[in-house]
Amino acid sequence: MKIVDIHVRTFRYASCVIRDSEGHGHPGANHEARQSIVTIVADDGTEGTMVGGISQSVLDGLVKPAILGQDPFYRERIWQTLKERQRLNLSSLSDRVVAVIDCALWDLAGRALGLPVYKLLGAYRDKVPAYASTMCGDDLPGGLDTPEAYAAFAVQCRERGYPAFKLHTWQPPIPGAPDVRRDVAACAAVRQAVGLGVPLMLDPYHYYSREQSLYLGRELEKLGFAWMEEPMDEHSMSSYVWLSDRLDLAICGPETVEGKMHARAEWIKHGAADILRGGVGDVGGITPLVKIAHLAESFGMRMEVHGGGLANLHVLCAMGIPGQFYERGLLHPFVDYEEPAPWLNRIEDPMDDEGFVHVPQQPGLGWDFNYAHIEGNLI
Ligand code: MG
Repeated sequence: MKIVDIHVRTFRYASCVIRDSEGHGHPGANHEARQSIVTIVADDGTEGTMVGGISQSVLDGLVKPAILGQDPFYRERIWQTLKERQRLNLSSLSDRVVAVIDCALWDLAGRALGLPVYKLLGAYRDKVPAYASTMCGDDLPGGLDTPEAYAAFAVQCRERGYPAFKLHTWQPPIPGAPDVRRDVAACAAVRQAVGLGVPLMLDPYHYYSREQSLYLGRELEKLGFAWMEEPMDEHSMSSYVWLSDRLDLAICGPETVEGKMHARAEWIKHGAADILRGGVGDVGGITPLVKIAHLAESFGMRMEVHGGGLANLHVLCAMGIPGQFYERGLLHPFVDYEEPAPWLNRIEDPMDDEGFVHVPQQPGLGWDFNYAHIEGNLI
């Protein structure tokens, strides 16, 4: 089999999630948004698709020369080739772009062989417990504007079946943010509302100082939190070693720092985190995320996968380390997460009443695109 084409389709859809000046999503007025999907085509007509964009210049200049004519089953070789091309093209050939290509190749392989991706990887389970992952705090009355609002939303999520809850608290440009005391007040209100039995996690502002992060961590220890993510700039691994040395609370990371499995290996070696972290988009695809899961397992560490979506779900269902959650969201009291985006016939991660997300059993990643919408709204 040979790869004969790769193309990007970008289309319009109506969205009610707006981005603030620092890029965080919040509920807002309906407006036109854009989405892209990338499809790789083999010479027998088999296709593999992933959600995400690639610019035309990167597609023509870097991606096509690396993959056209290649056997799509040689995912490791293609991934290593793209990784090598990143060295002098980091600004354009990002890990997110490499991830889109890698995930599309996994989808193609699954479709060609008639198997869901998690079974190609080596299945461990068919469903994963989810946690409710909130949007960042806001100043919308009745939204996520006060500690009490987080508490009420946590109760609502528990009633929906979520076994665990993670707060993303207030970040600039929301007035008054960031503020560690306000973050602690929200965490305390949620703990009081749901009781001690519900695992709770915090993902706050990402540029707190060491002392602010230590204060947060010590307060979360009193509240029995399960972990804290990224309270400081992850480029300073030393700050995370400093923080982890001082806390019993589990620190989960790194999430956004560059460096794929190499960065994670350094964090393990230096004791910068207790729970390893990474998602397909952060590290360059399913191929490297599986390496990171094996790295965590080899060091006897837990791993929590960053972000939702089909590709992360398939990796979670192929990980043999028990206890991980699927990050479902981002959720907000004003947004109906169960309603599929216009370009999908159904949501990627349906959750049952016990709080389990089930991995699709269709070949490949299990996409169910609304092609009528996509083709009718092409840009
Ligand atoms: Mg996070």
